[in-house]
Amino acid sequence: MGLRILFLSSEVAPFSKTGGLGDVAGALPWAFSARGHDVRVVTPLYRGVPRANLQLVGAPLTVELPVGTTEVRVFRAPAPGELLFLDAPELFDRDEYYGYPDDARRFAVFSMAALALAQRDGFWADVVHGNDWPTGLALLALKHGFAHTPLGKAKKVFTIHNLAYQGLFPKREVEALGIPWDQFSPSGVEFWDQLSFMKAALVSADLITTVSPTYAKEIQTPPFGAGLDGLLRHRGDVLHGILNGVDVKEWNPATDVFLPRQYTLTELAGRALCRKELIASCRIDAPVEGMPLFGVIGRMASQKGADLLQAALPKLLEQGASAIVLGAGDASVQRDWQGLAARFPRRLCVRVGFDNSLAHRIEAGSDFFLMPSRFEPCGLSQMYSLLYGSIPVVHGVGGLLDTVVDFKQPNGNGIVFTSPTPEALFGALVRAVELYRDRPAYTAVQARGMKRDFGWAASAAEYERLFTA
Ligand code: ADP
Repeated sequence: MGLRILFLSSEVAPFSKTGGLGDVAGALPWAFSARGHDVRVVTPLYRGVPRANLQLVGAPLTVELPVGTTEVRVFRAPAPGELLFLDAPELFDRDEYYGYPDDARRFAVFSMAALALAQRDGFWADVVHGNDWPTGLALLALKHGFAHTPLGKAKKVFTIHNLAYQGLFPKREVEALGIPWDQFSPSGVEFWDQLSFMKAALVSADLITTVSPTYAKEIQTPPFGAGLDGLLRHRGDVLHGILNGVDVKEWNPATDVFLPRQYTLTELAGRALCRKELIASCRIDAPVEGMPLFGVIGRMASQKGADLLQAALPKLLEQGASAIVLGAGDASVQRDWQGLAARFPRRLCVRVGFDNSLAHRIEAGSDFFLMPSRFEPCGLSQMYSLLYGSIPVVHGVGGLLDTVVDFKQPNGNGIVFTSPTPEALFGALVRAVELYRDRPAYTAVQARGMKRDFGWAASAAEYERLFTA
């Protein structure tokens, strides 16, 4: 029998996205509906979301917190399923999604309004599925305030998309948000005298998942646990890793509308054209004979290893490789990239900003895709690169290790290096150049990646198994 699933996410592609969370929330719920479940997705209505086709549903909700009362209107998106936006202009009608001084209130209101909406509509969910810290208070509220209501019977599921972002706030927010003080303890929502939304979820959930099997193990150890490895070990019996899938409606080189020419494994001519157009549109020189074009896409944050790239790439650029980098984020990472681009104006193109079209064209036009993340919960970009025939070069951690196999291994589809140092990355880049020069080997490795099935169906089935276990 189908389950009723209430799915909460602070980003839902294609409406709102800063990274992988948006991609997942834009696909996984619809994979649940495809399996016969009754799914409702609830998310904030930010300034950037196009409103033309949204439909107002019902009377506004009122969320009362000690810090203030908020009126929340509800809008429904036309497709692809039951997607509801919460409109509270004074909290969400802003350019960015995160990073404001009132974030605690913003996402508390989001969580409470989503539950109030389900309650108003009698949507008695079997599963409430929260994602990352912005939804943490929803699970806490279900466990406590809602405990004796029909909604309180739902299985409380929480997925960690990135443990590094925990939603930590000063302890005065405990009172401002109306959280009972007895929950502000190390076994509750306190993290070193601060309020932790992530902990609110981790101590309340019946089932905790994260987005790859390797990351599920790593976060139970101090180097990857971001201070929560003890709690995660304690909750180890309900913690599972399920690899993310790829939304092949959006990420498929045979149908991709952003590409100047679509292509497939058996008809790769279009890929050569994508490469040419990418180089031209980025106004750099093509690599010299025998040197590859490298692509990089990712948030500019220390997680993604930009410093490793900046240290390792110059020698290859000097030898005639070219590279295209797309990202947004930390100002200092941006500055360092721009400094390097100024040194290699014909070899290195750095684009700062969020550009979905360019992201697709980099996957389609580059020869290798570089992802030297220090840690990586799952990583979607390397999966896209496999499907698009840009061979991934990755640091062997988290989801990168679960998706990329070094080409020296049987069934290898990429290049994996094992320590996050410039020297190790440089070694991997040298191996990439060698592989690039061995055309039969390069095409065989490329073909293995393009043939992988990363569809969401298998992951959705695994979630379903745990929802009903
Ligand atoms: P993370 O979630 O840590 O940011 P993932 O690899 O899981 O990393 O997901 C990144 C997603 O965001 C991919 O879809 C990638 O194409 C996209 N993305 C990241 N930065 C940009 C950017 N500057 N412009 C366009 N898309 C981007």
